[in-house]
Amino acid sequence: MLDANQFDSAVLELTTALISRVSVTPEDAGCQDIIAERLEKAGFSVEWIDAGDVRNLWATRTFAAAGAHLLLAGHTDVVPSGPETEWNTPPFSPTVQNDRLYGRGAADMKSSLAAMVVAVEHLVESDKPLAGTLSFLLTSDEEGDAIHGTRHAVEVLNARGIRPDFCVVGEPSSSHHVGDVVRCGRRGSLNATLNVRGVQGHVAYPQDADNPIHGALAALAELTGTHWDDGNEYYPPTSLQISNINAGTGATNVIPGSLEIKFNLRFNTLQTSDGIQTTIEGLLDRHQLDYDIEWQLSGEPFLTERGALTAAVCAAIERETGTEPELSTSGGTSDGRFISPWCKPGSNQVEVVELGPTNATIHKVNECIDLAQMAPLTRIYADIVRHLLSAAG
Ligand SMILES: [Zn+2]
Repeated sequence: MLDANQFDSAVLELTTALISRVSVTPEDAGCQDIIAERLEKAGFSVEWIDAGDVRNLWATRTFAAAGAHLLLAGHTDVVPSGPETEWNTPPFSPTVQNDRLYGRGAADMKSSLAAMVVAVEHLVESDKPLAGTLSFLLTSDEEGDAIHGTRHAVEVLNARGIRPDFCVVGEPSSSHHVGDVVRCGRRGSLNATLNVRGVQGHVAYPQDADNPIHGALAALAELTGTHWDDGNEYYPPTSLQISNINAGTGATNVIPGSLEIKFNLRFNTLQTSDGIQTTIEGLLDRHQLDYDIEWQLSGEPFLTERGALTAAVCAAIERETGTEPELSTSGGTSDGRFISPWCKPGSNQVEVVELGPTNATIHKVNECIDLAQMAPLTRIYADIVRHLLSAAG
């Protein structure tokens, strides 16, 4: 059996194999096959819940009917490397230099996947039995549209009545040291494109035109001055930012016929996307604008409050590193937003956290992970699984 001291080389080997696969979204490029083969050997039943050109691996093993269901989740796809000439080493030829492993996906998130697999192999070979159910859900569409990926797989599994209690997503959450930051939620993100219609005309004859810029100014002032909330213990206040305003022909003597405004809201769990839309459309109606508005929801916010999962995660990190992690809700979106509301009617949210290596180089050229993070991360994952799926209860 693999000793916990041998995690370094085992994780390095598997991470290297995964980085060698050019799995730019939505390609999986065989990454999930490698992982599925390892998990099958560890007693998991595996299946693919593919959709479109996206691969989604579902692997599950029930150790004992009684006990919790823990899901380990992540993605095998990576963002494009950009110009390879800007890299010091080829992005898809993993290279160890100065105690770091370089390559696209080294930190986001092929090392996490490797650490999870090695941790689970270690646990199933150990003589301490596990209880409950342990599953993996991996997609090749996290960095892209994210429509056929985790969101789709969750729908399929939910329809079968399958639902985990806890989920650890292997996103690179850490800031300076492995395990110093754990994400326990994410803000929601809502985009709007507002078109205000007027009547085009000559600036010398305003009585024959209707200037949509003038018409919209008061509404925009009220919109940007709206106080949504004060935030809460976990989140900063909800904020609205106008990102683009376009109108006019470029000529100085033409009143424009229309105005387009794009804005985004980053919102916390005190708001819902429906509530925000109703409020804003009410505001626009009050100003009697002739408008249409298109909404695009990137994700509702989610929050995992302190409970059994955060307790297990914090304890595992403290045992490994001697320091208690910060629970944070900062950062962009992740597939946690699809897993958290994975509900059977009447059931609670799934408790979800994101825990992975440091994220300083993700999506950048020369993406890398310190080799020294691999074994601690693996031991932390193993400890979390052992704790939540303990046969002793
Ligand atoms: Zn990621």
